[in-house]
Amino acid sequence: PGTRDRLSRFLKSGIYRFENSAAIFIDPVRVLNGSYTRFRVSPTAYYSRFFEDESTSTNSIENTPEAPPDTRKRKRKKQRKPRPLNETEQIAQQRHQEARPLLLKAHETLLGTIELLAYLRRLRSDRCTEEEGRESLVKRDAIELNFVELGSVWQAPYYEISLNFDQDKIFTQDGGNPLIPCCKQILVPVFNNFVVNDGDSDLEAELLEHNYIIPRKSCFYMSDLKEIHNLVPVESDGGFNFILIDPPWENSSAYQKLKYQTLPNYYFLSLPIKKLTHTDGALIALWVTNREKLRRFVENELFPAWGVKYAATFYWLKVKPDGSLISELDLFHHRPYECLVLGYCYQKDIDLLGHNPVPDNQVFISVPGDYSRKPPVGDLLLEYVPGSRHACRLELFARELSDGWNCWGNEPLHFQGTKYFLKR
Ligand code: SAM
Repeated sequence: PGTRDRLSRFLKSGIYRFENSAAIFIDPVRVLNGSYTRFRVSPTAYYSRFFEDESTSTNSIENTPEAPPDTRKRKRKKQRKPRPLNETEQIAQQRHQEARPLLLKAHETLLGTIELLAYLRRLRSDRCTEEEGRESLVKRDAIELNFVELGSVWQAPYYEISLNFDQDKIFTQDGGNPLIPCCKQILVPVFNNFVVNDGDSDLEAELLEHNYIIPRKSCFYMSDLKEIHNLVPVESDGGFNFILIDPPWENSSAYQKLKYQTLPNYYFLSLPIKKLTHTDGALIALWVTNREKLRRFVENELFPAWGVKYAATFYWLKVKPDGSLISELDLFHHRPYECLVLGYCYQKDIDLLGHNPVPDNQVFISVPGDYSRKPPVGDLLLEYVPGSRHACRLELFARELSDGWNCWGNEPLHFQGTKYFLKR
């Protein structure tokens, strides 16, 4: 397809595939919008970090969440007196050197795609009126429910979420205008329960006077890790063909500690990945940080413990709306990219083929949203999922919901609050 075709496809899907390149540009807002019919994701709320920049008009994205200003100052001081790298750092550096040409090439491709860059600059106000933008900014500071706290009190089993299926209408016999708009409200326990919207439309939900938008064809199970065994299917062929995991890895960022709890690595060793896997096998996609010790833990301990065979590494390259990288590519402790490590898990000892093997080294480029919020790349990997049927998808440690996905974590409604949405 020509440039114009690629751009018009991008405007519909949020995915821009560069010509002759393994790189893909993603606008998460447009991708997520595919899950909604009556609402759409507010670009102002999604790209809130840029609005913070504008309102304070001093900081760049590098000084916001992922690296608080004080630590950056310390890092700069450290950089003035370079010391020799220790052994682990040298291996990390080698890994970086291998990824570097791919990332540079992907970035150059983006910078050479003028029509996309022009769009990028308008990203935060995309199809959003000034009034909607202002409204999103006001709503930004609205108090949110703390699901982790709520889920841990003795009353947790009694908290119910009301699902308002108010788009259901009773039609006249000739299929004309609705006779009676019919609101169907269903109350279901919100914790330790599969909450499902199997309709073709998104719906509004209410929990303790807070409102949430639930995408069509989605399901969530909100619980602590202690309850994860409830996801293991009863039927042997009831498992998942695609498991996307973004664990709360420990790291030293004080900012991160304010955002969500983390868990020591050994906790993840006992995640029941094999038991969650469908009899046809599963593609496993795991987000990892650039810490060398973590990368080694995943390769040498975690994947073997889960029974997962390594297949490929993909990269998420983070850019600002002007197309530049969010930090220098070679900055040791604050790389402008993260990795998605892919592997396959089979319940039996044989490799059942019949799916495209994952190619190595794909690069996704996007402008980051809120702290640690990953771009919605899951559906881009569907072609590599084993199994002959419609892929059954599971996201572990999810903070948002999506069409076609089963989402588990202790706060899967985090980004579903109405403040993150606009009416269509
Ligand atoms: N993928 C998410 C996104 O794009 O927004 C980010 C996930 S974040 C790295 C990890 C999540 O794991 C957080 O929502 C955190 O609250 C959750 N988590 C931490 N400890 C947990 C536990 N014991 N049980 C369940 N979830 C937990």
